[in-house]
Amino acid sequence: MKISRVETFLMQAGSPSETAWAAGPIAGGVNSGMSIGGFRNWLFLKIHTDEGLYGVGECSGWPAVVAAAVQQMAPLLVGEDPSGIERLWQKLHLSMMGHGVTGVVGAGALAGIDMALWDLKGKALGTPVWNLLGGKVRDRVRAYAHVSTPAFARTLIDQGYTAFKTGHVRTAVGKVAELREIVGPERDLMVDLHGPPWMTLKDAIIICRELESYKLLFVEEPVAPEDLEGLRRVGDSVAVPLAAGERRSLIWGIKPLIDGRIVDVIQPDMGRTGISQMMKLAHMAEANFITVAPHAGSLGPVAEYAAVHVLAAISNALMLERFANEWEGRDAVIDVPLEMKDGHVIVPDRPGLGVDIVEEEIARYPSVRNCGVPGSAEGGAYARGTFYEHQYYQPRSERMTAMAAANKGP
Ligand SMILES: [Mg+2]
Repeated sequence: MKISRVETFLMQAGSPSETAWAAGPIAGGVNSGMSIGGFRNWLFLKIHTDEGLYGVGECSGWPAVVAAAVQQMAPLLVGEDPSGIERLWQKLHLSMMGHGVTGVVGAGALAGIDMALWDLKGKALGTPVWNLLGGKVRDRVRAYAHVSTPAFARTLIDQGYTAFKTGHVRTAVGKVAELREIVGPERDLMVDLHGPPWMTLKDAIIICRELESYKLLFVEEPVAPEDLEGLRRVGDSVAVPLAAGERRSLIWGIKPLIDGRIVDVIQPDMGRTGISQMMKLAHMAEANFITVAPHAGSLGPVAEYAAVHVLAAISNALMLERFANEWEGRDAVIDVPLEMKDGHVIVPDRPGLGVDIVEEEIARYPSVRNCGVPGSAEGGAYARGTFYEHQYYQPRSERMTAMAAANKGP
């Protein structure tokens, strides 16, 4: 079997209602009449072979840009035997050496191709990808949902969810206090502080100290993701498990979080690691008693399938991040949505990844925009002369709101 061609499918995706991706509604370019907003794009790809079999994958790491990277790499794949996944990964990685250290764009291209090669191998052998990764450790994968209100938490508890994450740095402590009352001591609660660059190390420690008494499963990105030394010092100062890694890529990007056990949980993004790299990361993490909870945020449904196969096959799987209130168009761009039961995703048994894309549906949402400021110009952020000017980088006023919430204490 030989690779014959590589096809990419870029689309404008709508937003889960409780995230920054929901910011900045886009006008035009959408034919469906469905609600759509934000600047989230999904990039799927198909690797075709001369025998008619194909594999599907998904890339993140700035999908609109990654689409060009995949097309640049495609001629290097044509004519190759698709079964040598690691060999092809190394060949493509080498092909980018002139562009410098591989960042999220190059990693995104590698990740989607890697995913499609695993899918292809599974289909060719008639077995699910998890079986090729060593076999199933579990039949279902626990998922956690994003919540920002007690009412939504109650709805999700009724649906069987047992783990919840909230966020927004200024109001985190207050939200955690409110949500802990609702979810009780038996269910897991987490908070994402989104590592704003204006958060000083000492402020992060103050907030994390306030969070200690709520016995969170983890606190995510208490300082900027680039601030490894800050993360280490937060971890040394407070008794809260830490999680990070979603904005990094490949084994070399996430290795510094694992070395020295700076975090307790790594959150690799499947669309910028791929299956092969996420397996390597899981093993590196296991050797350091660190668990794996893949990031979801920007990702579409094919990368999620791939993450489920990895989580099914590794011993140190913590949980899958999964929006319970996703954009209504998400399930329509694939043939079979993942099955959820009692807050768990059922591990699929079909050959390969067990999912295909629906090209006609993807074509309904042409990419309009894939870059923007969270809380966007339309939403007030960075608007000159307003309170929200430089909302992300210079809001010392925002700091006092966060401190005030922290001061209320448990
Ligand atoms: Mg996050």
